[in-house]
Amino acid sequence: MSVTILKHCPGCGKCVRPGVCPTNAIAINDGKAVIGEGCIECGLCISACPIGLIKAEKKPAEVKKSDGLKEPEEIKEPKYQEDLSTEQNREEEQHEQTSTGS
Ligand code: SF4
Ligand code: SF4
Repeated sequence: MSVTILKHCPGCGKCVRPGVCPTNAIAINDGKAVIGEGCIECGLCISACPIGLIKAEKKPAEVKKSDGLKEPEEIKEPKYQEDLSTEQNREEEQHEQTSTGS
């Protein structure tokens, strides 16, 4: 997980109040909240932002099968080959039928 603050933070300062971040990793820089290196990704600051600008994101390695991804399917012979061969057989049969007169 990584915790980030969206760019349009107006810098209200609520997330930098004492008691929000256990490692004091959030600071206001140039009027915006920024998360520094001390962040332990606990997620406690997320609920501190009144306008929901602090987001937790899963890193790609943390995306699991249980998150809705499926195992890749086994590669099979394309189905159209099968269809073509049956169609060819049908044409051959019809040709035989017309040539034998039945
Ligand atoms: S996720 Fe936790 S450690 Fe990181 S900035 Fe937010 S409160 Fe601080
Ligand atoms: S509480 Fe939200 S809006 Fe306020 S400074 Fe923090 S991230 Fe920005």
